[in-house]
Amino acid sequence: MSQTVNLRIYRRDPDLDKAGKYQNYQIELQPGQTVLMALYHLLENVDKSLAFRASCRSAVCGSCGMHINGKNRLACETQLAPLGNEVVIEPLPHLPVLKDLVVDMTTFWDKYERVRPYLISLKEPPEKERKQSVEDRKKIDEYIDCILCACCHSSCSLDWWDKDYLGPAALGKMYRFVADSRDEGEIERLKIVASEEGVFRCHTLFNCTEECPKRISPTFAIQQMKKKIMFAKLTGKL
Ligand code: SF4
Repeated sequence: MSQTVNLRIYRRDPDLDKAGKYQNYQIELQPGQTVLMALYHLLENVDKSLAFRASCRSAVCGSCGMHINGKNRLACETQLAPLGNEVVIEPLPHLPVLKDLVVDMTTFWDKYERVRPYLISLKEPPEKERKQSVEDRKKIDEYIDCILCACCHSSCSLDWWDKDYLGPAALGKMYRFVADSRDEGEIERLKIVASEEGVFRCHTLFNCTEECPKRISPTFAIQQMKKKIMFAKLTGKL
């Protein structure tokens, strides 16, 4: 038997509306249909003005982070059926809306840039590759999986409120390099995160960890860097 789902979607065109509004669309649920598939169905068959971001459709690019039935999720991996007959789809909370479900990620990317998200090496580059043991790779596995979707950024009240606080995504990325056996910039990195805008501003609320669709824990990364900072201070390196 077919099931009708009501998609209640936040709509806003800043050139036309000061306040946003919700628009309802009824669709027939298809087997295996994700939220992203439903949005494409609407765009292609019902309303060409609907705006949302998406690219890989496989939870890798991080483009389709949005607020679905009260939780930050990736639209491409969120099945529609378990969400019930009424599904509310909104942009990531607390980020400026450019149009409908598309948010302005400028602050997110500014913070990301500040943590120098690349390997720092003082040695001459090797001919082929910088090798790493399997054990050392395992230490950073979780943080390499970050797809920069901003779901944690949007869920952290300090992050979206304070443009200076580095926030969970940037700090998680910093830990990915601090814990990387090939990186030689540890002290330089710890100086950045030991600053007023760094790890000690985290209130350990775990919102970021709960909202991360890749099950990464930025909170754990932040705690690990706090320990490293204390150790570096005690040993006179910082
Ligand atoms: Fe997205 Fe998780 Fe990375 Fe935050 S840590 S940007 S929620 S993948």
